[in-house]
Parts: sequence; structure tokens; C-alpha cells
Amino acid sequence: MSKVCMSSFGGSGENGRNCHCITVDDQIILLDCGVKREIIDGTVGFYPNLNEEVVKKISCVFLSHCHEDHVASLPLVYHYGYTGKVYATKETIAETVGFIKKWMTFVEKKNGVLPYTQEDVDKIQFEEISLGHQVVEGYDVTLGRTGHVLGASWYVFNFDGKKVLYTGDMVLQSASLQTDIPEHVDGAILNGAYAGQSLNQQEQYNRLLQNVKDTWSNGGSVLLPIPPKGRGIDITVFLDEHLEEGTIYVEEAVITSMNALVKQTAWVKEGLSNQLSDKVVVVKNAEDRKEALQHQGIFITGDGMITTDVSAEYYEAVKGSSKNMILITGHAATGTIAAGVLNDTFRAENGVEAKADKIIFKVHLDDEDIEYMAEVTGAKTLVLFHANPEHNVRITERLEKKNIVVTTLQYPNTIAI
Ligand SMILES: [Zn+2]
Ligand SMILES: [Zn+2]
Repeated sequence: MSKVCMSSFGGSGENGRNCHCITVDDQIILLDCGVKREIIDGTVGFYPNLNEEVVKKISCVFLSHCHEDHVASLPLVYHYGYTGKVYATKETIAETVGFIKKWMTFVEKKNGVLPYTQEDVDKIQFEEISLGHQVVEGYDVTLGRTGHVLGASWYVFNFDGKKVLYTGDMVLQSASLQTDIPEHVDGAILNGAYAGQSLNQQEQYNRLLQNVKDTWSNGGSVLLPIPPKGRGIDITVFLDEHLEEGTIYVEEAVITSMNALVKQTAWVKEGLSNQLSDKVVVVKNAEDRKEALQHQGIFITGDGMITTDVSAEYYEAVKGSSKNMILITGHAATGTIAAGVLNDTFRAENGVEAKADKIIFKVHLDDEDIEYMAEVTGAKTLVLFHANPEHNVRITERLEKKNIVVTTLQYPNTIAI
């Protein structure tokens, strides 16, 4: 029988550069290959700990979903000599190169150094796989939906009865997407992005609404920088349904995603609608944007960390008045404006008078969800990823009482199933 182990080249015990693996004897199945969007002492971005020696052992690569913290290091694998395929769902493949390009542009703009070239990007050989059970390059693998973003899938590999789950990014309570719960496994590489927290999604929605209403009645505007897919759609629909007054200016990218999403009946929840009221005004170009910013409004822009020129334009327009509010709704990486508006030093240095708050819309698992996943899958060995070690302490203690081994680790350290 093969020796099956779990490990990580990045992302376990940190937030970003997700690149995990299952080792089967001396072969490596690579699971995602992302970057960490941080700028520290002039270094723009951090990459998984891969090298030529390791890459030689990779038999194939699987992607859980298209986000940059899971795909934007993919060309690096080819840079180090990989010549095989990258397997993912059709929906993930459709978005992956776009996320890689966006990352390359960001690094260039920040005068950083990329560890790979466009030539490496062109070498990527994608191959579509579908939900459900199949055999890929001899591996017995089952895919299910994670609810995190369109096309996002978890993987269960079955090695002669030893089963390993890789969740990718997963959420149990998506407003728009379906989530499948995997069946029994022995070990799991599990998303714990909200480890250390217990998040009640309804409370977060109520807080969003209260913040928007208060700002509106004080005569201010609200800036909501949100990724156009996933929660961008959920938040737009929610505000449209729950606000009695106010104009919601939405960047076209969010609406385009929404229109595309409702057609994806294999992934979305039943009854999801893209019908918006006339409170919603779509911003299609620079002229529309200029016009929108003349008014009091709720501005929904299509990037969560305020790193694009479009989002920066809204930010510049609202930051100067204490009547306004900037609401950050997800991960804000160090060095981005989204992180800055929540930081007193940055606010003072950049003249940010607008109030700022952080509201979390669940796109990951929190402590209760991690515990639920451990119980429902029966996994006795867990590798947690997507959070810093100090956040994993509480859930680790809780699960160890149930005789579950919980760890974060870095290759060449591995944990056997
Ligand atoms: Zn993600
Ligand atoms: Zn992620």
C-alpha cells in the first residue's frame, strides 16, 4: 500500500500563497499554487516554497478555484520545469489566466520582481474535469461544490481506501451558491481562514445595513469595495432589497457577473434572481463615474482591496469627509488602501476623514464550521490553512479533545494519513 501524506508549500499557518499537496510515496499531487498579496520592505508578493527538485516530483496539479491566492504562482511550476497538466472545473479555468495577468500587472505597477515570465504563463496546459467521481491520471478523485465562488470545488482523493479531502476555500452559508458536503475521509487539508472566530452571518448583514442607513441619514456616502464575484453580488442584492431610500451606484463588472451567475444553474441556489430595482444605477465608464460621484450614494466597486484605479477614484472622492464611510468586507492585505483605511497611522498620513469599518461576509469556514467539517467527514488528521497560527489555537484545542490531530506545516515536513 502506498504511503500517503499531506503537506504544504505555502498557506498553512498563514494567509495567502496557498499551495498544498498530497504525497503518494515519492510523487506529489499539487493542490493550488497561489500568491500572497503583501508588500514588505520593497518585496512585492510572496510565493510558495517551490524549486526544481520539488517540481520534478509533481505528477499533476489540481486547482480548487480561480482566486489569486490559489492560482497566481501557477506559472512558477512551469518555470521550474513542470510539463504536465493542470486540472480544474471549466468555470475555474475560464478565470484563472485573468487572475494571473491581474497579479502580473499589479507587481509591475508596484515595481516588484516577478519570478516567472509570460512564456511560463503560455506553457500552462489546462484540462477540464467535472463535478462528481472520475479517474484522472490514475487517481480516483471526486469533486464537490464549495460555495466559495463559481466553479470552486473540493477534492476527495481515494488511494486504495485511504481518503484525503482538500477543501480549497469553502463556505457553508453562501447566499447564492450551493455547497456539497463531502463524505467520510481519513485526513483533510481544510480551509480555516476564519479560525479563531465565530461569525454569525445574519449579524454581519444587520451591521452592514445599519452602517449604510446611519451614513445615509447623516448626509454621507458609503464606499463598498467588493470583488465583483461572490459577495459583490450577494451584497448588491441584499442592499437593494433592504434599503428604503438611497441610490446604489454599482460598477458594471458586478452586474455582468450577476447576469452570468444566474445562468449557472449547476452551481447557484434555486430562485436566485438578477432583477434589481431602479434604486440601482449601473456605472459603465469614466463619465458615469464622474456623474455618480456628484451625488450622495452607495458606491459598489469591483475590487475588495482598493488596488485598481477605478476603486481609487471613488476612494479619493469619499475619503475627505467624516460624513462618509468606507466599508471593507473581506481580507485587506498589508500595503493596500483597504488595510490602510482601518489603520490610524495610514489615516493620519493620507488625510482619511471618512469613517471605516470591517464587516465580514463569510466566504470561508469559521471555528464552528471547521468543527462541523471534522465531524461530518470523520477526518482524524487535519492540516489547517489560510490563517496565522495564533488564530488556530482555540479550534486546535477543541478538536484535540476529540482525538483529532490538527496541524499547520511546511514541506518537507509531512503528516501521514
Ligand atoms: Zn478564494
Ligand atoms: Zn483563498
